[in-house]
Amino acid sequence: MTRLFRYLEPTYFSGLIDDPCLVIRDRPIHQSIMIDCGALSHVAKREMKPVRAIFVTHAHMDHFMGFDAFLRQVHASPRTIDLFGPPGFADRVEARLRGYDWNLAEPYWCTFMVHEIHQFDVHSFRFYGPDAFARSKVGVAPREGIIYRLNHMEVSAELLDHGIPVLAFRVVEQKIFQVDPQKMAALGLIPGEWMRELKRRFFEDWKDSGQLKVVRRVNDEVQEQLIEDAQGLYNKIQGEYSSASIGYLTDIGFLAGNREKAERLLNGVTLLVGECAFLQDDKHKARSSHHLCTADMNEMLEQIRPKYFLPVHLSKTYLGRSDELYAELSPPTGTTILRMPEHLTPMPLYSCDAMQLYR
Ligand SMILES: [Zn+2]
Repeated sequence: MTRLFRYLEPTYFSGLIDDPCLVIRDRPIHQSIMIDCGALSHVAKREMKPVRAIFVTHAHMDHFMGFDAFLRQVHASPRTIDLFGPPGFADRVEARLRGYDWNLAEPYWCTFMVHEIHQFDVHSFRFYGPDAFARSKVGVAPREGIIYRLNHMEVSAELLDHGIPVLAFRVVEQKIFQVDPQKMAALGLIPGEWMRELKRRFFEDWKDSGQLKVVRRVNDEVQEQLIEDAQGLYNKIQGEYSSASIGYLTDIGFLAGNREKAERLLNGVTLLVGECAFLQDDKHKARSSHHLCTADMNEMLEQIRPKYFLPVHLSKTYLGRSDELYAELSPPTGTTILRMPEHLTPMPLYSCDAMQLYR
């Protein structure tokens, strides 16, 4: 099976019914981002340490309560961690941080940079660990299309309506170095060490890129040749790879405005991680709580057309009924539904269950 992503490695750390948490790792640099901070108490420290940024859709408890588990693992290490959330998010982060005594803070403790994504701009705040996570305002900047970059990852966001503002995210895998062997052969280029140099310049955005010595077959003779424009050469031989992407959509009302914005942001993603909070018979519950039901998601999948769809965040009221969710989903041709267990961590063994085992 061909790999869906070249460098990115998404891992969903929760079960279908657990509070959501998605981690996306950039494999070559062993760093990652986290989207939503739900059930985290079972996540090992080695998974949290590489997290450089957390994207929180909204501060309802089931999407943000894992922040304490994260904080516990990283607060005493010297680094800056970016947190992204909707308007008002800095107050929520501050309230969580103020819930503890930090009189033992050390100069090497971590700092959180909190970025609130507003409609037209981004408001940033700093919570400085060495000073007991004291808050200071950093400033307001116009909101660009890309809100965050980490090596191969680019993240963009959209503000949607969940009764309160909620964010949806698209993570795109960028900076893919890929050459087409047929295009190279047509130019007589012979693969060799020079391609390593070409790749290095590609990842440095062709900064100070001068002449490049390549190996080429000319009239049946292998020669070294100096190329003046290395970037131009790459443009001629680059492969057709189109960037893979991951969409994350949860806790939105099924409203025309939400649909239009979400479908535009997430159109054609490789993998969509998306909420199916309710079954279709309970559509009224989805409407009153500003959530999606399976029928709503079927309509959205028709427009978004992801390659893979991972339904998440099923209401706890459906415990033991997840088969019904998968039966109700009818994706368009070309979309594959991914299944996972209701809970990721094992269930406790209750005495009533034990009696059934021995019957
Ligand atoms: Zn919510």
